[in-house]
Amino acid sequence: MQRLIQGLHAFQNDIFRAKRDLFSRLAKGQHPLALFITCSDSRIDPCLLTQTEPGELFIMRNAGNIVPAFGAVRGGEAATIEYAVSVLRVKDIIVCGHSQCGAMQGLINSDQIQHLTAVCEWLKHAETTARIIRENYTHITDPKGLLTATVEENVLVQLENLRTHPSVAAALGRNELKLHGWVYKLETGEVFAYNALDGQFSNVEETSGQAAVATQGIPAI
Ligand SMILES: [Zn+2]
Repeated sequence: MQRLIQGLHAFQNDIFRAKRDLFSRLAKGQHPLALFITCSDSRIDPCLLTQTEPGELFIMRNAGNIVPAFGAVRGGEAATIEYAVSVLRVKDIIVCGHSQCGAMQGLINSDQIQHLTAVCEWLKHAETTARIIRENYTHITDPKGLLTATVEENVLVQLENLRTHPSVAAALGRNELKLHGWVYKLETGEVFAYNALDGQFSNVEETSGQAAVATQGIPAI
């Protein structure tokens, strides 16, 4: 805890003072660019990753970057999404999975997490991902490759779940919103974005021109 308190002092004395204009502007309201949905994993820092400032990303985090389908749960996720889209009018929603995801590892090795009842219950919102992996990826026996496939498929499943939210469906219908599927590889710092044109995740560096339309027209899963 001491480490956090020291950090707080450094923030107030150095950062806040240096960026006083930014913080006084933010005190009057927020106009974030995007809703960023990612895993709670401590190794992901959305603002560091995208080099954004406070006020630029509206962030929703949970184990496994999961978006329960609309009406499936009385949780905060639906409210967070509705507020971001209908009130803050974000133009983009990014669902960002990541390598070495413990939640996705638990999804494909569910026998190892039976004692974690809350986690098991939560991962039911990724059952579609688990089913796709069980039925369509029997050719992959390498555990690392299977985990990568699970992380990627889960991003696509959660993007489809996003579309079940009325605010998202309406904004997509007005062409005022774009959905993006990303996977962050924490070993290298690379980000791979889903490209609906070839159905692949490609390095954002190499496909930056296409990233904005990465998930438009995702085929129904
Ligand atoms: Zn994770």
